Amino acid sequence: MKILVINCGSSSLKYQILDMDGDNLMAKGLVERIGMEGSVITHKRLGNDAWVNEVPMNDHKEAIKQVLDALTDPTHGVVKSMEEIDAVGHRVVHAGEKYASSVLITEDVMKALEECVELAPLHNPPNLIGIKACQELMPGTPMVGVFDTAFHQTMPPESYIYAIPYKYYEKYGIRRYGFHGTSHKYVAERASEMLNCNLDDLKLITCHLGNGASVSAIKRGKCVDTSMGFTPLEGLVMGTRSGDIDPAIITYIRKKENLPSGAVNEILNKESGVLGISGVSSDFRDIEAAAEEGNERAQLALKVFVHKVRFYIGAYIAEMNGVDAIVFTAGVGENAPNMRDLICHDLGNLGIKIDLVKNKVRGKETIISRDDSPVKILLIPTNEEYMIARDTEELVEKLKVKK
Ligand code: AMP
Repeated sequence: MKILVINCGSSSLKYQILDMDGDNLMAKGLVERIGMEGSVITHKRLGNDAWVNEVPMNDHKEAIKQVLDALTDPTHGVVKSMEEIDAVGHRVVHAGEKYASSVLITEDVMKALEECVELAPLHNPPNLIGIKACQELMPGTPMVGVFDTAFHQTMPPESYIYAIPYKYYEKYGIRRYGFHGTSHKYVAERASEMLNCNLDDLKLITCHLGNGASVSAIKRGKCVDTSMGFTPLEGLVMGTRSGDIDPAIITYIRKKENLPSGAVNEILNKESGVLGISGVSSDFRDIEAAAEEGNERAQLALKVFVHKVRFYIGAYIAEMNGVDAIVFTAGVGENAPNMRDLICHDLGNLGIKIDLVKNKVRGKETIISRDDSPVKILLIPTNEEYMIARDTEELVEKLKVKK
């Protein structure tokens, strides 16, 4: 079965096409500057150089049309015609409390997702536009929605209820939702395979450390807690996001700086995190380089980042009464040995012992704990697109059985 995976942003679109019969990635690409001057598609067939095509794309429908043209192009394409694409899996950020797993997209599902726009005003609208554009261009092809929030729906109320008047949960759905769910789920499943253990027998802490970052506590394959909250702003220190802060700071800064409403939200989302502390960059490579050159604020930014990850690891060990394995994934988790070393440093009393030699690795699946470490430490590159394709395949297979 050939599955097209679509991840639509406001002005960009990432795609992959996978042949699930061999679990093979066939092609992938990126469309940028949709609706702007200089819109461009970068398409890469596996094993070939990237094909860059600058072509005007006024909206997402035109962008998806270009994707389909690239996939069926006689020179750069991987399928003869659109009919060879069996289904489309769409990444959707927020499904509120409505869906705890992926679903086949119907009119009712679209309505439910429209209702979630308020909860994710930056992310859900482009996701929905992408679905509608695909529906128009590929009528009759099954579409599946895979949600960032779904995996976290198993959290117990004590993990997701905020200690504010309960009526706000009832009236507005204000609660912890959690994000990066597809990634946490993928690495948890891979961890159980790498450890040769059933997921039901494992307590895992998965650390998705990228530009956005979150930690999850996963017990018997189910998420019991996660660091991101009502929005992806809560939790860890991130590239430009503050993570946890005292909520009183918001009104205090607003008053002191005489800022309009919404301005502090922008500061916390776009000017904070390691960028805010260091003043150097939101990219950990730049901050690590500056720290090495002696930049004290860059050094502090890294320390604060590490402190917070350790804080959550400790909390989740307490919540689950232990942990069998800690998993690192995403840009920083996969590529920054120094960060992993600092996060796991001096946790021997908790049974966490990193092997400094094995840890000198980037971007590949491997175990980086010492042989005598009771808690295993794993590096697992995330693969959200594969998870989206797999869920899509499963749902479409079920549809065939029903017919
Ligand atoms: P992601 O959001 O998962 O794509 O992660 C992106 C982030 O990973 C970048 O902003 C960098 O901060 C970080 N990153 C990528 N490669 C490296 C590296 N070699 N060393 C340190 N950080 C890295």
